[in-house]
Amino acid sequence: MPVYSRSKLAFEYGNGAYLFDKQGNRYLDFAAGIAVNSLGHCHPHLVEALTAQANKLWHVSNLYEIPGYQKLAKRLTDACFADTVFFCNSGTEAIECGIKMVRKYHDDTGNPERFRIITFKGAFHGRTLAAASASDRDKCIEGFNPPVEGFDNIEFGNIEQVQNAITKETAAILIEPVQGEGGIRVAPIEFLQQLRQIADIHGLLLFMDEVQCGMGRTGRLFAHEWAGITPDIMATAKGIGGGFPLGACLATEKAALGMTYGTHGSTYGGNPLAMAVGNAIADIIIDEDFLNKVQMLSNSLKLRLEVVAAEFPTIIESIRGLGMMLGIKLHVPNKEFAEQLRNNGLLTVPAGENVLRLLPPLTIDDSHIEEAIVKLKATCNDIIARKEHSL
Ligand code: PLP
Repeated sequence: MPVYSRSKLAFEYGNGAYLFDKQGNRYLDFAAGIAVNSLGHCHPHLVEALTAQANKLWHVSNLYEIPGYQKLAKRLTDACFADTVFFCNSGTEAIECGIKMVRKYHDDTGNPERFRIITFKGAFHGRTLAAASASDRDKCIEGFNPPVEGFDNIEFGNIEQVQNAITKETAAILIEPVQGEGGIRVAPIEFLQQLRQIADIHGLLLFMDEVQCGMGRTGRLFAHEWAGITPDIMATAKGIGGGFPLGACLATEKAALGMTYGTHGSTYGGNPLAMAVGNAIADIIIDEDFLNKVQMLSNSLKLRLEVVAAEFPTIIESIRGLGMMLGIKLHVPNKEFAEQLRNNGLLTVPAGENVLRLLPPLTIDDSHIEEAIVKLKATCNDIIARKEHSL
């Protein structure tokens, strides 16, 4: 089905931060499969883990113990607020699990009328009917009406609107600490802290969507850690599998109290192949030194981008973002700019608000930053030259 707008480019293989096409042209990959290839392409530790597991056992159903499942669950819960995990295959499934958990929690605690979830403009939570209904309504659900009932979509960052949106039916607040598709919009720390307080006062569950911004992307294991708060439920995916389809819904024991035998499930979720890769990712990312390095390098990348923005004020409006989730807000159309960058060998991802996303592998070093900056400047010059030529 023609549901994607694909470029003509096809890649043959990848290595670290680079992708190569059939002709051997090399591209610096600051898109990383939209924040998926967290350790770059063909990281030896991941290749080894996947091939070793492929030679032993690919899949057994969740009717049996899967030791890798227990192992990864323990490592994740030890490293964050959560007590319990459900593994699935994608971000949207992790969100679905969380939405069901919200409803089940209030049902089991004697408040079945509480099922509504507050969500935010610019949000993207996935493509299943419920996740699309929770996303920014106009963009995601158009043509697929009626939406799944129970989502109240309000301004991102507006605490007054949150307070006004709460009714006797409100069950939870669902937010991306850093909106990805919406245009790299970082939720202010105070806003996240206020959401935690409001959730506590009203008995709501705070549900974080860290599908894109989680698993080290912002320089902390999870982005909400920057605000010094913890959610009750969190969805994560993308970087947790480094390219292998894997998602996870994490929760406190209390929030997950209704998720008992038979209430939820997935044929593939957390199978031996996925768990081998997930554990290999965890070996590298759940590590303070690794995350500190991500912070250090991403600060350097952001500073360098700000210098380029100052040099090309007619092209770049501003730089935004957190960690290795950076956005270039442009004066020129972001898709055209991304195309020219690609022609110059740098891959990026357009997002909302005419922003271009930079989502490099978390394993880049100074040389990749230098190369990206050179390509970015060259592209700004190309665009200026093109404009002058067309005058
Ligand atoms: N949530 C966020 C914040 C996302 O960025 C995405 C995908 O881009 C999703 C959910 C859906 O994830 P998936 O495409 O793996 O279903």
